[in-house]
Amino acid sequence: MRYLPQRLVIEKEVADSPLVKRILATLPDTPVDWVDQLKEDEDGENGSFLEIVKFRGRFIKPCPGTRFYNCCGYQILNLGIQCSLGCTYCILQAYFTSRNVRLFANLDEAIQQLTEHLNNSRREIHRIGTGEFTDSLLLDPLIHLSENLVPFFAAQPNAILELKTKTAQVDLLEKMDHRGHTIVAWSLNPPQVIAAEESGAAPLEARLEAAQRCQEWGYRVAFHFDPLLAYPGWQQGYQEVVDRLFSAVEPGGIAWISLGTLRFMPSLKTVIQQRYPNTSILDEEFIPGLDGKLRYFRDLRVEMYAYLNELLLGIHKDLCVYLCMESDDVWREAFGFTPAERGGLSAMLDRRALS
Ligand code: SF4
Repeated sequence: MRYLPQRLVIEKEVADSPLVKRILATLPDTPVDWVDQLKEDEDGENGSFLEIVKFRGRFIKPCPGTRFYNCCGYQILNLGIQCSLGCTYCILQAYFTSRNVRLFANLDEAIQQLTEHLNNSRREIHRIGTGEFTDSLLLDPLIHLSENLVPFFAAQPNAILELKTKTAQVDLLEKMDHRGHTIVAWSLNPPQVIAAEESGAAPLEARLEAAQRCQEWGYRVAFHFDPLLAYPGWQQGYQEVVDRLFSAVEPGGIAWISLGTLRFMPSLKTVIQQRYPNTSILDEEFIPGLDGKLRYFRDLRVEMYAYLNELLLGIHKDLCVYLCMESDDVWREAFGFTPAERGGLSAMLDRRALS
C-alpha cells in the first residue's frame, strides 16, 4: 500500500536539501508545517505525518546483536525511522513512541560517513541494510532514495546493500546499473498471517512477483522468514509459501534466506495488546531468552527451524539458510552444524555476498 502522508513537518534547516525538494515536487498538494526544530510529541493519526529532519548522529552502525547468540555481522545505514505498514508484532512500536515516519534529509552527510567507513576498512566485506528501523522501500516512490544508494554501492568493491521490504515498490530499480552490489529482500509469511498481522503490507503474491521482476533485472534476492509464527496449521501454511516462492524465483539467484521465530522485548506486549486487541500472536507461551526478549520455547523453535530448513534444502541443496539470533545448541539441533564449523556466520554470509 503506497504511503501518502497527510501532512509534512519539515525542519527549516533542511529546506534546500534535494530530498525535501523531491518530496515537495512529488506531493505538491500536501500541507506543510515548516518548523525550527521538530517537537517529539506531534503525532498525526496513526503516524500520518511525514517528518523530515536533519540527523545529527552516526548514520552507520553495527546491528545491535548480542554476545549470547550467533550474530551475522550486519551493519545498519539509518536513513529514517518508523513505518506505516502496521505489522502487529513490529518491534519499532517499542523503540519509538511517535508513529510518524521520519526521514533524515542530510543524505550527503550519510554518504560521506559511509564512504569514510568503507575506506577505513577496505579489506572487510560490508553487508549493509537500510531496513532495520523502517522498511527500505516504503518511501522510495516519494523520494527515489534507491537512485542514490544503488549506484553508490555499485561503485564500492567491498560493500553490498540489502534493501529489506514488505512492499512491492521496485519499479525504480529496473533501470539501475547495480553491478550485483544490491540485494533486494522480502520478509515472507503465509497469506492468512499477512492478512491478520501485516495488513498494511503487500500480499504474498505481490512480494513474490516483485522478487521475480528484480531477478529478471539481474538483482540477487533474499528472503526472511522472520517472524515465523506458530499458529494452528503453521506447517502447511509455510509449506505453501515455500512452494509459491520457488514457482516465482530461481533458487540459484537467492543470496540467503533467514529464519527467526517471533521474539520481542516484554515492554512490547502491552503495546500490542492495546493497539491490536484481536491479534492471536500472543496466544503461544513465551520464555525470556538470554537477551531478555520473549521467545517461543526451545523445542518449538527447533521444530520450526528444522521443518523450514528441510523444506528449503529439499528444493535446492545449495541455498544459504541461516538462523537469526540463535545459540549454537539450537543451530546444531535444527541444522546439524554450528556456524563456527563453517567459519562463523558472518563469514558464511560474506562468502554469499561476494559470490
Ligand atoms: S514492515 Fe517492518 S518496519 Fe514496517 S511495520 Fe512491518 S515489521 Fe515494522
